[in-house]
Amino acid sequence: MSQLAIHGGPKVRNDYFPPYRTIGTEEEAAVKRVLDSGVLSRFLGTWHEDFLGGPEVRALEEEWADHFGVKHAIAVNSATSGLYCAVGAAGIGPGDEVIVSPYTMSASAIAPLIYNAIPVFSDIEEDYYCLSPQSIEQRITPRTKAIIVVDLFGQVFDVDAIRALAKKHQLLVIEDCAQAPGATYRGQFAGTLGDMGVFSLNYHKHIHTGEGGIIVTQNDDLAEKLRLIRNHAEAVVEARGTASLVNMLGFNYRMTEIEAAIAREQLKKLPRLLRERWDNIAYLSEKLQSIPCLTLPKIRPETGHAFYLHTLTYCAHNKMDMVFSKGRVRLFNAGATLLIEKTA
Ligand SMILES: *Cc1c(COP(=O)(O)O)cnc(C)c1O
Repeated sequence: MSQLAIHGGPKVRNDYFPPYRTIGTEEEAAVKRVLDSGVLSRFLGTWHEDFLGGPEVRALEEEWADHFGVKHAIAVNSATSGLYCAVGAAGIGPGDEVIVSPYTMSASAIAPLIYNAIPVFSDIEEDYYCLSPQSIEQRITPRTKAIIVVDLFGQVFDVDAIRALAKKHQLLVIEDCAQAPGATYRGQFAGTLGDMGVFSLNYHKHIHTGEGGIIVTQNDDLAEKLRLIRNHAEAVVEARGTASLVNMLGFNYRMTEIEAAIAREQLKKLPRLLRERWDNIAYLSEKLQSIPCLTLPKIRPETGHAFYLHTLTYCAHNKMDMVFSKGRVRLFNAGATLLIEKTA
């Protein structure tokens, strides 16, 4: 073998990989349709049929709920705002404790702070990097109201154990599935495995609308609260005849018609994009399995992984992340970059 590039030998590859691109003519046509209509957002803050948004937002919500097999989908302008809505809808307030992960994107850990509640860090599992049920149990107090689980890197949380804990202690489970659209547990989709699930549609996720998020739930009461919080929560409660909805803190987390129209096209592409990822993983696993210092990611039994990232354990201590761009893979950690190309 000639000298390795890392030791000054010739580089196998000199160009950057092309960016991961999911946007095409379908999204262009969808955006044009919205622009031609002249209605870029149809939300009204007061109680009115437009309180629930315009035709693209409503169609997206219906299609999303249908795809993931869940009763309600509520479109918002990011997963961050979706997490804030979820904590608000859970009725969490000052002094309440919410168990969160220390190993995640910041929004899923800080969401309780928006309502002056206390995020309590639990440890993660060594094998899967999701919240450890044993560690959660040690942190439950009489003030604990909810657990925010994260399907990190596309791997679903320990559903049976954490749901059992939630049931025993009457806690809500908020599932941050931003990295796991299409992941499954016993055939059921990530996002539908807790009381509320929050997807992200930001530019860096499997599918995107630039910025955006979707909350899903089976629960009618939570769904109504989520829709109120998304849209100022100032809708005339009197007209709804619902006394329990007073004093809610609302925001403007509304998704525009353009984002919703793009998201509808992106959702159609999700199954194909996932298959491409799984093909890449199979290719990589075959090529990497014989390298002694690398351990391939462990996949939880009875789950389907969405592989937002492909995490390898390197010499037992360093973590390496892999980023996919169409048909190609970039693998990096702090010091070195290893490139592996899959020829089409
Ligand atoms: C991306 C991400 C978010 C936030 O998503 P935005 O849509 O950018 O607000 C939250 N949690 C996790 C785990 C994420 O990866």
